[in-house]
Amino acid sequence: MNGVDVQFRNVTQVFGALVALREVELAVQPGAFVSIVGPSGCGKSTLLRLAAGLLTPSAGEALLGGRPPQQLRAQKQIGWMAQRPALLPWRTVRQNVLLPQQLTMNNEQLTINDSQFIIHYSPDELLKLVGLFEFADAYPHTLSGGMQQRAALARMLAIGASLWLMDEPFAALDELTRESLGGELLALWRQFRPTVLWVTHHLAEAVRLSDRIILLSPRPGMICGDIPVTLPHPRDDTAPAFQDVLRRARSILQAEGNGRV
Ligand code: ADP
Ligand code: MG
Repeated sequence: MNGVDVQFRNVTQVFGALVALREVELAVQPGAFVSIVGPSGCGKSTLLRLAAGLLTPSAGEALLGGRPPQQLRAQKQIGWMAQRPALLPWRTVRQNVLLPQQLTMNNEQLTINDSQFIIHYSPDELLKLVGLFEFADAYPHTLSGGMQQRAALARMLAIGASLWLMDEPFAALDELTRESLGGELLALWRQFRPTVLWVTHHLAEAVRLSDRIILLSPRPGMICGDIPVTLPHPRDDTAPAFQDVLRRARSILQAEGNGRV
């Protein structure tokens, strides 16, 4: 699996009279892990929906690998994770992980033959990768929030996506679970090398995980900061260099008129 490059070219998104995003210009390298941080309502989820091709920009364009996102979407190359894992309650963990493969098989036999990924990883192997193999036969409601997100992660791996769109997937988890899942997510990212767009409210988490942090101003969302993070992993939250990046990002967001992040 190889990450796809993501481009927003002068993207503006309006909903009626409301301008959600204004003139967003952003190029993301293939395989990068980019965090998007900004206050509530600044257009973070809208940006992900544009990248997924679920929305077409009011002006400008979003491109994946130089092509409209709908193409990658049709090839089932886009993974999505949200705050709530959306597992099917009547299916076991293993059956949930199998679901996207089954759907792909029914709809697009050709895609599955083209994908090296699906041939190499069985659902049980994926469950081992996310530390959930022992719970393969459990039903989602019997799992903790963190374990449910692990299952959702395995399901996303099952489609072999080259783009992971992650809309605050750890926001509902406690801090310790969040930190350990973050570390595991990074290991999976290194192994599979997708491009990741990671939306978070949690600035320290963005510094801990990503290569680059994009800051959005309050509505209408405009890019007000673009901060590379070159610190080696695993990152130490207490290190002066870590704190420097955090301070820099925070001061930009505060200058934009919100202390809420
Ligand atoms: P965030 O994820 O940063 O909290 P969103 O992208 O969800 O922000 O929303 C940005 C703004 O656009 C908000 O004011 C929201 O109410 C508005 N918005 C989002 N989607 C729609 C829609 N489909 N119709 C109307 N307004 C929308
Ligand atoms: Mg949102």
